[in-house]
Amino acid sequence: MNRPHILLVEDEPHIASGLIYNLEEEGYQVTHAGTGEAALQQLWLENFSLVVLDLMLPGISGIEVCQIARKQDPKLPILMLTARGEDKDRIEGLEVGADDYLTKPFNLDEFLLRIKGMLRRSDWYRPRPSRERDYRFGRNSVNLQERTALAGDRQIELTDIEVKLLRIFFQREAEILSRTELLAAAWDLSPDTETRTLDNFVVRLRKYFEPNPSAPVHFQTIRGRGYRFMR
Ligand code: CA
Repeated sequence: MNRPHILLVEDEPHIASGLIYNLEEEGYQVTHAGTGEAALQQLWLENFSLVVLDLMLPGISGIEVCQIARKQDPKLPILMLTARGEDKDRIEGLEVGADDYLTKPFNLDEFLLRIKGMLRRSDWYRPRPSRERDYRFGRNSVNLQERTALAGDRQIELTDIEVKLLRIFFQREAEILSRTELLAAAWDLSPDTETRTLDNFVVRLRKYFEPNPSAPVHFQTIRGRGYRFMR
């Protein structure tokens, strides 16, 4: 059986690391997002079993994340974290679709029990996980789970390395990624891999997905720094 995959949206690093540690101890797989933007990106890419959502985030608020997540998946369990005394937030969170809440600071055992209960209930009406969403950019649509892509009319079967590279590009869209980071993501930093290998893969991705591979708009070279994916 697959381990439940939890998305933890929390901007305070010390709270996040404590919760990640304890959730992993309980056997859950955890993905952490430190901002609302990162949370939305993750929700787009993966199917989560449950979301733990801090409402007080810089930038896109937890309320907005909740609203969008709920629209995307009406059955996704959402546990929100609120600050003591912020009744207004809590009520708004429940109105936009959170299932339950905890007020900070909370008891860790209660936190874990709450999650267990929510996952158990969601199992009752979630017969099996739905498939990963297609990621779309330009004329392309990519399904990382199925390792397939459609570039215009052309059907492409993706290799393991291509899937890993695309995953990090999509997850960190618009960020400049160094060759070292990309090598680590796709080849687990095997010492034999040369940066030239990575460059060849990027050339390949451009051939698949760029309208004009010699003038790339999606897989951009940032001179002296690495690559950047732009949707
Ligand atoms: Ca916060």
